[in-house]
Amino acid sequence: MPGAELRVLYRGDLASCNYSCHYCPFAKRNDSTDVTARDRDSLLRFVDWCETTHFGLRILFTPWGEALVRKHYRDAFLRLSHASNVIELGIQTNLSRDPAWLASANNDAVNLWCTYHPSQESRSRFLRRLEQLRQLRIRFSVGMVALREDLDEIRAMHLALGQLDHGSGQPIYLWLNAYDQRTPGYYSAQDVAMLSAVDPHFPVNLDPAPSLGARCRAGLSAISVDARGDARPCHFVQRPLGNLYDGSFEAQLSRSACPNARCDCYIGYALREDLPFEASLTRAFAPESQAIRAR
Ligand code: SF4
Ligand code: SF4
Repeated sequence: MPGAELRVLYRGDLASCNYSCHYCPFAKRNDSTDVTARDRDSLLRFVDWCETTHFGLRILFTPWGEALVRKHYRDAFLRLSHASNVIELGIQTNLSRDPAWLASANNDAVNLWCTYHPSQESRSRFLRRLEQLRQLRIRFSVGMVALREDLDEIRAMHLALGQLDHGSGQPIYLWLNAYDQRTPGYYSAQDVAMLSAVDPHFPVNLDPAPSLGARCRAGLSAISVDARGDARPCHFVQRPLGNLYDGSFEAQLSRSACPNARCDCYIGYALREDLPFEASLTRAFAPESQAIRAR
């Protein structure tokens, strides 16, 4: 039986993507052969550690860019899905890779974090990929950046997901990230109302509660890990917490209040313990709207 639970956000050296979303620094970037090889070696070391640690793990891969176009990430994901101490396993992906490779995954732990980018692919193709995931019994959520030019596409995707999950008894969560380069007044009140109707969590993403001093799992039962195994409390707090591979991080796990004024990214505030909702690390389900209204 695995021991205490540890949430791990892993980000290796990869920083490239096959898509070219206009707002993204990783658009159409390629990694060199050297960086790719180093990233592969680092990932293998991480997987080896995961398979042998005494912790029960909830793992979310948060690559800069798209990782599942790389075989070493697909292989690592499959291996980890079969590790008995991995409770939850997710990765952000644009789903550009045909998901047939997941046929050999142990789908008990897997929750894919699938992002739909209307400027890069057709809705019908993306929906076909989701249908494949359904047939493989792989759980997933779908996310979009709430760009104003995509409001109609958000409505259409919401409708399509409602049809896709019809009869399955498993609603598909469509989560929306507020556009982070927005100018004041970017969203009208009507836009916010529509987006909040689609994703009850949208108001939190748009205007997260101040985080300075917040009670948070980061650094206690959650860590961010880089390619070298160096640990930090989260992706947004750079305080060193030792290293995974020499075991030095364990002695440094302790509770400390958030030092940042704001924590406006889901992969951060999902670790907070002071918000009136429970957020899945892999964004697998929508927070309950009743809890949101209680804020
Ligand atoms: S799919 Fe994601 S990582 Fe790739 S360019 Fe678009 S936003 Fe960036
Ligand atoms: S609230 Fe966010 S920024 Fe602060 S410690 Fe937690 S995850 Fe990190």
